[in-house]
Amino acid sequence: MTESPNIDILTGLPTSRYYWAILDEMFANDPDDYCMLTLDIEHFSFFNKWYGRKKGDDMLNTIGSFLVAVDRVNGTHSGYMGGDNFSITFKRNAELASDLCAGIRNVISMYPAIDSSFRPFFGGYINNNKEIKPTAIEMYDYTVTAINKAMETMDSDVYWVDDVMAERMQKEIDLMPKIHMAMKNGEFTFFLQPKCFLNSGKIIGAEALVRWVSPTEGMISPGKFIPVMEKNGFITYLDKYVWELVCKTIRRWMDEGRRVLPISVNVSRIDVYALDIVQVFTSLIEKYKVPATFIEIEITESAYVENEAIIKDAEEALKKAGFKILIDDFGSGYSSLNMLKDVDADVLKLDMRFLDLNESNNAKGLQIIGSVLNMAHEIDLPTIAEGIETEFQKQMLTLLGCEYAQGYYFYKPLPIPEYEKLLENPSLVADSAVQQRKLGRSYLNELAEYFWKVAEVNPYTGEYRFIRKFFEPDFITTPRPVNIWEYISRYIKNGFIHQDDITRFQDASCKESLLDQLRMNHRKRRTHIRYFIGDGFRWFAFETIRSNQFSEDNPWMLFAWKEADVDTANREDTLSVMYDAFRTIIKLNPLNGDFSIIKASPKELSDFSEVSKDIFIWAKIFAGRLHTDDMENFYKFIDVVAVRRHFISGG
Ligand code: C2E
Ligand code: MG
Ligand code: MG
Repeated sequence: MTESPNIDILTGLPTSRYYWAILDEMFANDPDDYCMLTLDIEHFSFFNKWYGRKKGDDMLNTIGSFLVAVDRVNGTHSGYMGGDNFSITFKRNAELASDLCAGIRNVISMYPAIDSSFRPFFGGYINNNKEIKPTAIEMYDYTVTAINKAMETMDSDVYWVDDVMAERMQKEIDLMPKIHMAMKNGEFTFFLQPKCFLNSGKIIGAEALVRWVSPTEGMISPGKFIPVMEKNGFITYLDKYVWELVCKTIRRWMDEGRRVLPISVNVSRIDVYALDIVQVFTSLIEKYKVPATFIEIEITESAYVENEAIIKDAEEALKKAGFKILIDDFGSGYSSLNMLKDVDADVLKLDMRFLDLNESNNAKGLQIIGSVLNMAHEIDLPTIAEGIETEFQKQMLTLLGCEYAQGYYFYKPLPIPEYEKLLENPSLVADSAVQQRKLGRSYLNELAEYFWKVAEVNPYTGEYRFIRKFFEPDFITTPRPVNIWEYISRYIKNGFIHQDDITRFQDASCKESLLDQLRMNHRKRRTHIRYFIGDGFRWFAFETIRSNQFSEDNPWMLFAWKEADVDTANREDTLSVMYDAFRTIIKLNPLNGDFSIIKASPKELSDFSEVSKDIFIWAKIFAGRLHTDDMENFYKFIDVVAVRRHFISGG
C-alpha cells in the first residue's frame, strides 16, 4: 500500500478531501448521472468501548479492503470519511447499489461480537435532474441527511433521496442558522387570538401564536418553521422562549393594572418528550409571579395518541400545579371519540378546518361534531370550536350546543398592543366569574383542597362517595357503613363529635333536613361543630351543599367539613387565601359605611384615591366596569343598611 497523505492508512481508501476532489474532477469531465452511497454504523463508538479499539480498527480495515476490491472490479470510487463513515460513488445502477449494501452488511456480520445494535445504515443520493449539478461535498451532505432519515424512520436500513427531496432538505438545513440568528435578535414574538363565547362573542381569553417578524422577509407564519424545528428538536428552545415571553407579558399586564384573561400556549409533542414541561412551567410562573390560572396549556391531539403514558403523567402533574390543559386540534383524525373517556383535560378544542362544514356539504361534518359535542357534554368537558369563519358555522355550532369559539369570524390573531386595546373595552369582554365557573372541570379538585373532608351524598338514600378524606380508624370504616347516616352515627358513638354539638350535627345532616333544604331551594346550609382530631376538639364548619347540577337523575349533594377559623393564626391563613383568590377586596364597616381597600389593582387604587369615604360614590365609579344587567344587584349588594341587617340582625 502506498503511503500518501491522501490515502487513509487504516482503510486504504482516499481521505474525505481527496475523495471529493477526485469526484469533482470526474463530474467536470463526464457529466453523467452519478449516485453516491454513504455508510454509517449505528453506535459504533460503543463498539470500540466494549470490544476494544483494536477490534474496531480491524472491522474498519476489513470494510476498507472490501471497498478497494469493489472499486477495482466495478470501476466505482470509494472514500473513507473518518469515524465509521465510508462513501462510494458510481454511475447510476440499482443492482450494483443493492449488491453493495448486501456486501457491506455481510462484511460487518462476520464480526462475531456484533449484535443487532451495531447495524449498518446507508444513505443514498441520486442525481436525476440534469439541470442540477451538486458538488461532491453537497452530494455527501445529502447522503448524511439521508442516513439520519433512515435511522429516524427505521423502516429500512437504506434511504435514498433525489434532487427534489435533497433541495427540500437543504432548504430546511439553511433555515436553521437563520432561526438561530432570529432568536438571538429577538425576531420571534407572538400574536394573540381571542377566544369567545360562541353566542355573545365576548372574549374569555386568548391563544398565543408564535410569529417570526423578519426584518428582510416580513412576517413568517409558524407553518414555515415549526415543522422543521420539530424535526430537529430545536422547537423546545423556541417554545420555552415563547412561554417565557407570555409569562413576562402577563406580568406586565398585572403590573400595569390591566385586565388579565387566561392565555393558552402551544406545546409541541417534541416538548413533551424532551423537556420536563411541568418543571419548566412551574418555574416560569414562579419567576414571574404569575398565577397558574392565567396560563393554559394546549397539547395537540396527536401527542396523546403517540405517547399516552408520558402525556398522562405530564397532564396530571400540570393540573396539580393549577394549569388548565386543552386538547388541541381534536378531530384531526388521529384519535377516536373513545379517547375522550380516558383523558383528563379541561377543555377540548375542536378544529373546524378538518371538517367540511359548509352550506353545501355539511351532513358528515355536522354528524361528527354532534357526536363529539354529545360525548364531551356527557363527561362535562367544555368545548371550544376553532377556525370558525362563517355565520353559518356559528349557527350550526350554537344549535349543537358548543359553548366557546375561536376563529376569523370573531377575531384574527392580533399583535399584542391591539389585543390590549380590545380588552380595554369592557363590553367586549365576558364576565370573568362566569368564565371561571364554566371553563374547566377542576372545580372538584379545588373544592377538595379547600375542604378538610368532602363527600357526595344522595339525600334520598344516604348513599355516599368520599371525594376527599383523611385516615379514619377501622372502627369507623369497617364494616363499611351502609349509608351516610350510619357513618355519622359512628363518629358520634366513638366520641368524635363534641357532646354539645351532637344534636346540631344530627339535625344538620339528617334526611329530613336535606329534603327541607332542597324543597326550600337553599344552596348551602352551615353549622359549626367540634370534631376530635389529634389531641383535642377543633371547630369545623359543616356544610350541606346542593350542587348546581342537582336533579332527580343526578341527586348528589355535597357534605363538606372545613376547618373553622377559630384562632388568629387560622384567620390570617384564610385572609391570605382570600387575598390570592380575589381581585379586589374592600373592608366595610356596616355601622357607619366606612370602607377601606385591602387589595386592588394599581389602576383601581389610583381611581379610588379620588374618592371620599362613602362607598356609594365609590360604587358609582366602579359600576362603569360592570355588566349593565348586574348593576342593580350590585347596588343592592353593597347597600350598607342591607349589609348591616344581614350580618348584625342575622338576616
Ligand atoms: P393551532 O394551535 O391549532 O392554532 C390555530 C391556527 O389556526 C393558527 O394558525 C390560527 O391563526 C389559525 N386560525 C385561527 N382561526 C382561523 C380561521 O378562522 N380560519 C383559518 N383558516 N385559520 C384560523 P397559525 O398561527 O399559523 O399556527 C399554526 C399552528 O402552529 C398552530 O395550530 C400550532 O399548532 C402551531 N403553533 C403556533 N404557535 C406555536 C408555538 O408557540 N409553539 C408551538 N409548538 N406550536 C405553535
Ligand atoms: Mg393551539
Ligand atoms: Mg388547533
